[in-house]
Amino acid sequence: MKAAVVRDFTAPLAIEDRPLPEPAPHQVLVRIEASGLCHTDIHAARGDWPVRPTPPFVPGHEGVGVVERAGDLVRHVGLGQRVAVPWLADACGHCDHCVSGWETLCLQQHNSGYSVDGAYAEYALAHGDYVVPVPDGIDPMDAAPLSCAGVTTYKAVKVAGSGPGTRVLVSGIGGLGHLALQYARLAGAETIAVDVTDEKLALARDLGADHVLDARIQDVPAQTQKLGGADAAIALAVSNDSFRAAYAALRRGGTLVLVALPAGGTLEIPVFDTVLNGTKVVGSIVGTRQDLAEVFRLHELGRTRVIRETRRLEDVNDCFEDVLAGRVTARLVFDLR
Ligand code: NAD
Ligand code: ZN
Ligand code: ZN
Repeated sequence: MKAAVVRDFTAPLAIEDRPLPEPAPHQVLVRIEASGLCHTDIHAARGDWPVRPTPPFVPGHEGVGVVERAGDLVRHVGLGQRVAVPWLADACGHCDHCVSGWETLCLQQHNSGYSVDGAYAEYALAHGDYVVPVPDGIDPMDAAPLSCAGVTTYKAVKVAGSGPGTRVLVSGIGGLGHLALQYARLAGAETIAVDVTDEKLALARDLGADHVLDARIQDVPAQTQKLGGADAAIALAVSNDSFRAAYAALRRGGTLVLVALPAGGTLEIPVFDTVLNGTKVVGSIVGTRQDLAEVFRLHELGRTRVIRETRRLEDVNDCFEDVLAGRVTARLVFDLR
Protein backbone atom coordinates (compact mmCIF):
# COMPACT_ATOMS: atom_id res chain seq x y z
CA MET A 1 0.00 0.00 0.00
CA LYS A 2 0.96 3.61 -0.53
CA ALA A 3 1.57 5.68 2.61
CA ALA A 4 2.96 9.11 3.51
CA VAL A 5 5.55 8.62 6.22
CA VAL A 6 7.27 10.97 8.67
CA ARG A 7 10.87 9.76 8.95
CA ASP A 8 12.35 12.84 10.60
CA PHE A 9 10.79 15.97 12.16
CA THR A 10 12.90 18.20 9.92
CA ALA A 11 12.42 16.33 6.61
CA PRO A 12 9.50 16.29 4.18
CA LEU A 13 7.17 13.31 4.33
CA ALA A 14 8.16 10.38 2.11
CA ILE A 15 5.69 8.50 -0.07
CA GLU A 16 6.43 4.84 0.48
CA ASP A 17 5.22 1.41 -0.51
CA ARG A 18 4.45 -0.61 2.61
CA PRO A 19 3.19 -4.15 3.12
CA LEU A 20 -0.52 -4.43 3.93
CA PRO A 21 -0.84 -4.70 7.72
CA GLU A 22 -2.56 -7.72 9.33
CA PRO A 23 -5.47 -6.98 11.68
CA ALA A 24 -5.09 -8.37 15.21
CA PRO A 25 -8.21 -10.16 16.63
CA HIS A 26 -9.71 -6.86 17.91
CA GLN A 27 -8.79 -4.84 14.81
CA VAL A 28 -10.22 -3.99 11.40
CA LEU A 29 -8.32 -3.22 8.22
CA VAL A 30 -9.88 -0.15 6.65
CA ARG A 31 -9.44 0.63 2.94
CA ILE A 32 -9.14 4.41 3.18
CA GLU A 33 -11.22 6.44 0.70
CA ALA A 34 -10.77 9.92 2.11
CA SER A 35 -8.25 11.33 4.57
CA GLY A 36 -8.42 14.88 5.88
CA LEU A 37 -5.43 17.08 6.60
CA CYS A 38 -5.77 18.48 10.12
CA HIS A 39 -3.31 21.13 11.30
CA THR A 40 -2.45 18.62 14.05
CA ASP A 41 -0.79 16.45 11.39
CA ILE A 42 1.61 19.31 10.69
CA HIS A 43 2.38 19.63 14.42
CA ALA A 44 2.92 15.84 14.52
CA ALA A 45 5.21 15.78 11.50
CA ARG A 46 7.33 18.60 12.95
CA GLY A 47 7.45 17.34 16.53
CA ASP A 48 5.87 20.60 17.77
CA TRP A 49 4.45 19.31 21.05
CA PRO A 50 5.97 18.28 24.41
CA VAL A 51 4.94 14.64 23.85
CA ARG A 52 6.32 13.68 20.44
CA PRO A 53 5.44 10.77 18.19
CA THR A 54 8.21 8.33 17.28
CA PRO A 55 9.28 8.28 13.60
CA PRO A 56 8.79 6.54 11.33
CA PHE A 57 5.03 7.00 11.56
CA VAL A 58 2.06 7.60 9.27
CA PRO A 59 0.03 10.74 10.23
CA GLY A 60 -3.70 11.20 9.70
CA HIS A 61 -6.72 10.99 12.01
CA GLU A 62 -9.53 12.02 9.68
CA GLY A 63 -9.59 8.68 7.88
CA VAL A 64 -12.77 7.38 6.29
CA GLY A 65 -13.03 4.10 4.44
CA VAL A 66 -14.51 0.66 4.17
CA VAL A 67 -13.82 -2.30 6.46
CA GLU A 68 -12.08 -4.86 4.29
CA ARG A 69 -10.96 -7.36 6.91
CA ALA A 70 -11.88 -7.88 10.55
CA GLY A 71 -10.28 -9.86 13.37
CA ASP A 72 -12.24 -12.64 15.14
CA LEU A 73 -13.14 -10.50 18.16
CA VAL A 74 -14.65 -7.60 16.21
CA ARG A 75 -18.40 -7.42 16.97
CA HIS A 76 -19.66 -3.92 16.27
CA VAL A 77 -18.75 -3.38 12.63
CA GLY A 78 -18.95 -5.67 9.66
CA LEU A 79 -17.12 -6.17 6.38
CA GLY A 80 -18.03 -3.57 3.79
CA GLN A 81 -19.14 -1.02 6.39
CA ARG A 82 -17.92 2.56 6.00
CA VAL A 83 -16.24 3.84 9.16
CA ALA A 84 -14.23 6.78 10.45
CA VAL A 85 -10.80 6.31 12.01
CA PRO A 86 -10.56 9.26 14.40
CA TRP A 87 -7.85 10.67 16.72
CA LEU A 88 -9.01 8.44 19.61
CA ALA A 89 -7.64 5.19 18.20
CA ASP A 90 -8.57 3.37 21.39
CA ALA A 91 -8.92 3.82 25.15
CA CYS A 92 -8.94 1.38 28.09
CA GLY A 93 -12.74 1.29 28.33
CA HIS A 94 -12.64 0.76 32.10
CA CYS A 95 -11.19 3.79 33.91
CA ASP A 96 -13.38 6.46 35.50
CA HIS A 97 -12.96 8.72 32.46
CA CYS A 98 -13.93 5.97 30.03
CA VAL A 99 -17.02 4.86 31.93
CA SER A 100 -18.25 8.39 32.68
CA GLY A 101 -18.41 9.59 29.08
CA TRP A 102 -14.93 11.14 28.98
CA GLU A 103 -13.01 8.46 27.07
CA THR A 104 -11.07 11.31 25.44
CA LEU A 105 -9.33 11.83 28.82
CA CYS A 106 -8.31 8.16 29.25
CA LEU A 107 -4.65 7.89 30.28
CA GLN A 108 -4.27 4.61 28.37
CA GLN A 109 -5.49 5.96 25.02
CA HIS A 110 -3.70 5.67 21.69
CA ASN A 111 -3.99 8.28 18.97
CA SER A 112 -4.26 7.68 15.24
CA GLY A 113 -1.48 9.23 13.22
CA TYR A 114 0.48 9.96 16.39
CA SER A 115 1.12 7.01 18.71
CA VAL A 116 -0.19 4.51 16.13
CA ASP A 117 -0.04 4.75 12.33
CA GLY A 118 -2.86 6.79 10.84
CA ALA A 119 -4.81 7.41 7.67
CA TYR A 120 -2.32 9.04 5.27
CA ALA A 121 -2.30 5.68 3.53
CA GLU A 122 -4.38 3.41 1.31
CA TYR A 123 -5.10 1.17 4.31
CA ALA A 124 -5.15 1.68 8.05
CA LEU A 125 -5.54 -0.64 11.01
CA ALA A 126 -8.04 0.44 13.63
CA HIS A 127 -9.68 -0.89 16.80
CA GLY A 128 -13.04 -2.48 15.98
CA ASP A 129 -14.64 -0.84 19.05
CA TYR A 130 -13.36 2.68 18.35
CA VAL A 131 -14.08 3.19 14.67
CA VAL A 132 -17.34 5.11 14.19
CA PRO A 133 -19.85 4.05 11.50
CA VAL A 134 -20.43 6.63 8.78
CA PRO A 135 -24.09 6.81 7.66
CA ASP A 136 -24.64 5.84 4.00
CA GLY A 137 -26.00 9.26 3.10
CA ILE A 138 -22.72 11.03 3.84
CA ASP A 139 -20.06 11.56 1.17
CA PRO A 140 -16.78 10.09 2.51
CA MET A 141 -15.03 13.31 1.44
CA ASP A 142 -17.30 15.20 3.86
CA ALA A 143 -17.08 12.53 6.55
CA ALA A 144 -13.29 12.87 6.76
CA PRO A 145 -13.16 16.48 8.04
CA LEU A 146 -16.13 15.81 10.30
CA SER A 147 -14.10 13.06 12.02
CA CYS A 148 -11.77 15.57 13.69
CA ALA A 149 -12.57 19.17 12.73
CA GLY A 150 -16.28 18.43 13.12
CA VAL A 151 -16.29 16.44 16.32
CA THR A 152 -13.71 18.68 18.02
CA THR A 153 -15.65 21.88 17.43
CA TYR A 154 -19.03 20.26 18.11
CA LYS A 155 -17.62 19.29 21.52
CA ALA A 156 -16.00 22.71 22.05
CA VAL A 157 -19.33 24.42 21.39
CA LYS A 158 -20.93 22.14 24.01
CA VAL A 159 -18.09 22.79 26.49
CA ALA A 160 -18.51 26.53 25.86
CA GLY A 161 -22.10 26.31 27.05
CA SER A 162 -23.32 27.99 23.85
CA GLY A 163 -27.06 28.29 23.56
CA PRO A 164 -29.80 30.65 22.39
CA GLY A 165 -29.10 34.17 23.55
CA THR A 166 -25.38 33.61 24.12
CA ARG A 167 -22.67 35.36 22.10
CA VAL A 168 -19.87 33.11 20.87
CA LEU A 169 -16.60 34.26 19.35
CA VAL A 170 -14.88 31.80 17.03
CA SER A 171 -11.20 32.66 16.62
CA GLY A 172 -9.78 31.12 13.42
CA ILE A 173 -12.10 30.12 10.57
CA GLY A 174 -9.98 27.29 9.18
CA GLY A 175 -10.66 23.57 9.06
CA LEU A 176 -11.99 23.59 12.61
CA GLY A 177 -13.37 27.11 12.74
CA HIS A 178 -15.67 26.91 9.72
CA LEU A 179 -17.46 24.03 11.44
CA ALA A 180 -17.34 25.64 14.91
CA LEU A 181 -19.19 28.61 13.46
CA GLN A 182 -21.92 26.34 12.11
CA TYR A 183 -22.34 24.43 15.40
CA ALA A 184 -22.51 27.69 17.38
CA ARG A 185 -25.25 28.90 15.01
CA LEU A 186 -27.09 25.58 15.35
CA ALA A 187 -26.93 26.04 19.13
CA GLY A 188 -28.72 29.37 18.64
CA ALA A 189 -25.82 31.65 19.54
CA GLU A 190 -25.00 35.06 18.10
CA THR A 191 -21.64 34.53 16.41
CA ILE A 192 -18.48 36.58 15.95
CA ALA A 193 -15.96 35.14 13.48
CA VAL A 194 -12.32 36.23 13.59
CA ASP A 195 -9.57 35.49 11.07
CA VAL A 196 -6.63 37.10 9.27
CA THR A 197 -7.19 36.26 5.59
CA ASP A 198 -9.73 37.79 3.21
CA GLU A 199 -10.85 34.35 1.99
CA LYS A 200 -11.61 33.08 5.51
CA LEU A 201 -13.46 36.28 6.41
CA ALA A 202 -15.55 35.92 3.23
CA LEU A 203 -16.21 32.28 4.11
CA ALA A 204 -17.38 33.32 7.60
CA ARG A 205 -19.86 35.79 6.06
CA ASP A 206 -21.04 33.13 3.62
CA LEU A 207 -21.63 30.71 6.51
CA GLY A 208 -23.81 33.28 8.25
CA ALA A 209 -21.59 34.76 10.96
CA ASP A 210 -23.41 37.67 12.62
CA HIS A 211 -20.18 39.68 12.97
CA VAL A 212 -16.87 39.24 11.18
CA LEU A 213 -13.63 40.71 12.54
CA ASP A 214 -10.29 40.99 10.75
CA ALA A 215 -7.63 40.55 13.45
CA ARG A 216 -5.01 42.17 11.15
CA ILE A 217 -6.66 45.57 11.30
CA GLN A 218 -9.33 45.44 13.98
CA ASP A 219 -9.06 45.40 17.75
CA VAL A 220 -10.89 42.15 18.43
CA PRO A 221 -11.41 42.62 22.21
CA ALA A 222 -12.59 46.24 21.83
CA GLN A 223 -14.98 45.42 18.97
CA THR A 224 -16.37 42.45 20.87
CA GLN A 225 -16.79 44.45 24.10
CA LYS A 226 -18.77 47.03 22.09
CA LEU A 227 -21.25 44.24 21.38
CA GLY A 228 -21.38 43.40 25.11
CA GLY A 229 -18.51 40.90 25.21
CA ALA A 230 -18.46 37.20 24.40
CA ASP A 231 -20.07 34.61 26.68
CA ALA A 232 -17.66 32.15 25.15
CA ALA A 233 -14.61 32.38 22.94
CA ILE A 234 -13.36 29.28 21.14
CA ALA A 235 -9.63 29.51 20.37
CA LEU A 236 -8.87 27.66 17.13
CA ALA A 237 -6.12 29.84 15.61
CA VAL A 238 -2.54 28.60 15.82
CA SER A 239 -1.34 31.81 17.48
CA ASN A 240 -0.67 32.95 21.05
CA ASP A 241 -1.79 36.49 20.16
CA SER A 242 -5.19 35.13 19.22
CA PHE A 243 -5.51 33.47 22.68
CA ARG A 244 -4.85 36.80 24.40
CA ALA A 245 -7.41 38.53 22.17
CA ALA A 246 -10.01 35.82 22.78
CA TYR A 247 -9.51 36.04 26.55
CA ALA A 248 -9.85 39.83 26.49
CA ALA A 249 -13.02 39.62 24.37
CA LEU A 250 -14.94 37.76 27.12
CA ARG A 251 -17.68 39.37 29.14
CA ARG A 252 -17.96 38.78 32.88
CA GLY A 253 -18.65 35.12 33.62
CA GLY A 254 -17.40 34.17 30.17
CA THR A 255 -15.59 31.00 29.14
CA LEU A 256 -12.45 30.72 27.06
CA VAL A 257 -12.25 27.31 25.38
CA LEU A 258 -8.69 26.45 24.33
CA VAL A 259 -8.49 24.07 21.38
CA ALA A 260 -5.59 25.12 19.11
CA LEU A 261 -2.17 23.77 20.02
CA PRO A 262 0.63 26.01 18.67
CA ALA A 263 4.21 24.88 19.33
CA GLY A 264 5.12 26.31 22.73
CA GLY A 265 1.56 27.61 23.18
CA THR A 266 1.20 29.70 26.33
CA LEU A 267 -1.34 32.12 27.69
CA GLU A 268 -0.60 34.37 30.66
CA ILE A 269 -3.77 34.93 32.61
CA PRO A 270 -4.10 37.97 34.87
CA VAL A 271 -5.30 36.57 38.20
CA PHE A 272 -7.05 39.75 39.34
CA ASP A 273 -9.20 40.09 36.20
CA THR A 274 -9.94 36.37 36.10
CA VAL A 275 -11.13 36.36 39.72
CA LEU A 276 -13.12 39.58 39.55
CA ASN A 277 -14.71 38.67 36.24
CA GLY A 278 -15.42 35.06 37.20
CA THR A 279 -13.76 33.95 33.98
CA LYS A 280 -13.49 30.27 33.11
CA VAL A 281 -10.63 28.88 31.02
CA VAL A 282 -11.07 25.31 29.84
CA GLY A 283 -9.22 23.00 27.47
CA SER A 284 -11.15 20.83 25.04
CA ILE A 285 -9.77 17.75 23.29
CA VAL A 286 -11.58 16.20 20.30
CA GLY A 287 -14.88 14.45 21.23
CA THR A 288 -16.19 10.99 22.03
CA ARG A 289 -17.56 8.33 19.68
CA GLN A 290 -21.02 9.52 20.69
CA ASP A 291 -20.16 13.13 19.81
CA LEU A 292 -18.98 11.98 16.39
CA ALA A 293 -22.16 9.98 15.82
CA GLU A 294 -24.13 13.18 16.57
CA VAL A 295 -21.94 15.15 14.18
CA PHE A 296 -22.63 12.65 11.41
CA ARG A 297 -26.35 12.75 12.16
CA LEU A 298 -26.46 16.56 11.90
CA HIS A 299 -24.65 16.37 8.57
CA GLU A 300 -26.99 13.66 7.32
CA LEU A 301 -29.89 15.97 8.19
CA GLY A 302 -28.32 18.66 6.01
CA ARG A 303 -27.51 21.03 8.87
CA THR A 304 -23.78 21.42 8.16
CA ARG A 305 -21.61 22.16 5.13
CA VAL A 306 -18.06 20.89 4.84
CA ILE A 307 -15.90 23.30 2.86
CA ARG A 308 -13.06 21.32 1.35
CA GLU A 309 -10.63 20.88 -1.53
CA THR A 310 -9.48 17.52 -2.85
CA ARG A 311 -5.77 16.72 -3.13
CA ARG A 312 -3.50 13.77 -3.95
CA LEU A 313 -1.55 12.12 -1.14
CA GLU A 314 1.61 12.49 -3.25
CA ASP A 315 1.26 16.27 -2.83
CA VAL A 316 1.19 16.11 0.97
CA ASN A 317 4.25 18.33 1.46
CA ASP A 318 2.84 21.09 -0.78
CA CYS A 319 -0.44 20.72 1.07
CA PHE A 320 1.28 21.38 4.42
CA GLU A 321 2.81 24.56 2.95
CA ASP A 322 -0.57 25.68 1.63
CA VAL A 323 -2.22 25.24 5.03
CA LEU A 324 0.59 27.12 6.79
CA ALA A 325 0.41 29.95 4.26
CA GLY A 326 -3.38 30.26 4.64
CA ARG A 327 -3.95 29.36 0.97
CA VAL A 328 -6.63 26.77 1.73
CA THR A 329 -10.39 27.43 1.66
CA ALA A 330 -11.00 25.44 4.84
CA ARG A 331 -10.02 21.76 4.74
CA LEU A 332 -7.85 19.70 2.39
CA VAL A 333 -8.88 16.08 1.90
CA PHE A 334 -6.77 13.40 0.21
CA ASP A 335 -8.79 11.29 -2.19
CA LEU A 336 -7.38 7.75 -2.04
CA ARG A 337 -10.01 6.03 -4.17
P1 NAD B 1 -6.20 25.71 10.14
O1 NAD B 1 -4.82 26.08 9.77
O2 NAD B 1 -7.10 25.10 9.14
O3 NAD B 1 -6.98 26.97 10.75
C1 NAD B 1 -6.38 27.98 11.52
C2 NAD B 1 -7.07 29.31 11.15
O4 NAD B 1 -6.61 30.33 12.04
C3 NAD B 1 -6.76 29.78 9.74
O5 NAD B 1 -7.97 30.10 9.07
C4 NAD B 1 -5.91 31.03 9.96
O6 NAD B 1 -6.06 31.99 8.94
C5 NAD B 1 -6.47 31.52 11.29
N1 NAD B 1 -5.59 32.44 12.03
C6 NAD B 1 -4.24 32.53 12.04
N2 NAD B 1 -3.84 33.52 12.86
C7 NAD B 1 -4.97 34.06 13.39
C8 NAD B 1 -5.20 35.10 14.34
N3 NAD B 1 -4.20 35.79 14.92
N4 NAD B 1 -6.49 35.39 14.67
C9 NAD B 1 -7.52 34.69 14.11
N5 NAD B 1 -7.34 33.69 13.20
C10 NAD B 1 -6.08 33.39 12.86
O7 NAD B 1 -6.03 24.71 11.40
P2 NAD B 1 -7.08 23.64 11.98
O8 NAD B 1 -6.89 22.34 11.30
O9 NAD B 1 -8.41 24.28 12.05
O10 NAD B 1 -6.46 23.44 13.46
C11 NAD B 1 -6.34 24.53 14.35
C12 NAD B 1 -5.60 24.13 15.61
O11 NAD B 1 -6.40 23.25 16.38
C13 NAD B 1 -4.27 23.40 15.39
O12 NAD B 1 -3.32 23.86 16.35
C14 NAD B 1 -4.62 21.96 15.67
O13 NAD B 1 -3.51 21.18 16.09
C15 NAD B 1 -5.61 22.14 16.77
N6 NAD B 1 -6.53 21.00 16.98
C16 NAD B 1 -6.88 20.73 18.25
C17 NAD B 1 -7.79 19.71 18.50
C18 NAD B 1 -8.22 19.43 19.89
O14 NAD B 1 -8.86 18.40 20.10
N7 NAD B 1 -7.94 20.29 20.85
C19 NAD B 1 -8.31 18.96 17.43
C20 NAD B 1 -7.92 19.28 16.13
C21 NAD B 1 -7.03 20.31 15.91
ZN1 ZN C 1 -7.37 16.87 14.01
ZN1 ZN D 1 -9.80 4.63 30.11
